[in-house]
Amino acid sequence: MTESFARDSSAANAPLVVLSGVNKHFGALHVLQDINLEIAQGEVVVLIGPSGSGKSTLCRTINRLETVDSGTITIDGRPLPAEGRELARLRAEVGMVFQSFNLFAHKTVLENVVLGQVKVRKINRDRAVRTARELLERVGVGAQADKFPAQLSGGQQQRVAIARALAMNPKVMLFDEPTSALDPEMINEVLEVMRQLAADGMTMVVVTHEMGFARSAANRVLFMADGRIVEQNTPEAFFTAPRSDRAKDFLSKIL
Ligand code: ADP
Ligand code: MG
Repeated sequence: MTESFARDSSAANAPLVVLSGVNKHFGALHVLQDINLEIAQGEVVVLIGPSGSGKSTLCRTINRLETVDSGTITIDGRPLPAEGRELARLRAEVGMVFQSFNLFAHKTVLENVVLGQVKVRKINRDRAVRTARELLERVGVGAQADKFPAQLSGGQQQRVAIARALAMNPKVMLFDEPTSALDPEMINEVLEVMRQLAADGMTMVVVTHEMGFARSAANRVLFMADGRIVEQNTPEAFFTAPRSDRAKDFLSKIL
């Protein structure tokens, strides 16, 4: 108790997300190797790196979809608990958007955005519906509210998934390759919503291959390889002058 009072979550300049000495194995595979990372309030961090380097696992540990073997993760000064109600509450503060949109297929778009608010956040339904409509407008799919996910394009579905995550009023949003499953013509409409969110001050961690987005929206680029953060810098510095051979090699393949 004393401990949690001692941590002032609104303390100026306290990082919002802190990973410290985080290690994780999948059997013999050391998938996260001594990860130390602090993410400031309002910061947009883009995570890039070769396939299998641990980007998704890193994201998933931040809302405890994956456990860690050692180290600690705190969100707004509070350690992620192992389980129980407290975990559900903290997890609700970390929004996550995946490559596959993961909408509830048998619920309307509106209901997809209402549900978590009512069930997890215990918000009354009328208010949840108002919030859902506002958020759907904000991501440009207000007119689709009464349709089912399958009636929407991939880009629209992903924007609904973003609205659904925002409806939980998260402190940080994690995006794991949110545009990778989209047809090319739909990528920009999703990135545009993310750019707006970043401009509005949302704290974001984004795994993406969209280097244009990284250049224009990120405050910091983290380059991961073999479970480690190998290099990090501003996008400008990282893309024009990567330091490590791994990063140079990676960039030569994708740019
Ligand atoms: P990335 O997102 O950078 O492509 P991942 O975090 O998905 O990388 O995966 C990192 C490594 O961990 C890969 O070698 C992958 O095969 C392995 N991995 C991921 N999830 C699991 C799991 N649930 N069980 C076993 N191995 C896993
Ligand atoms: Mg991945």
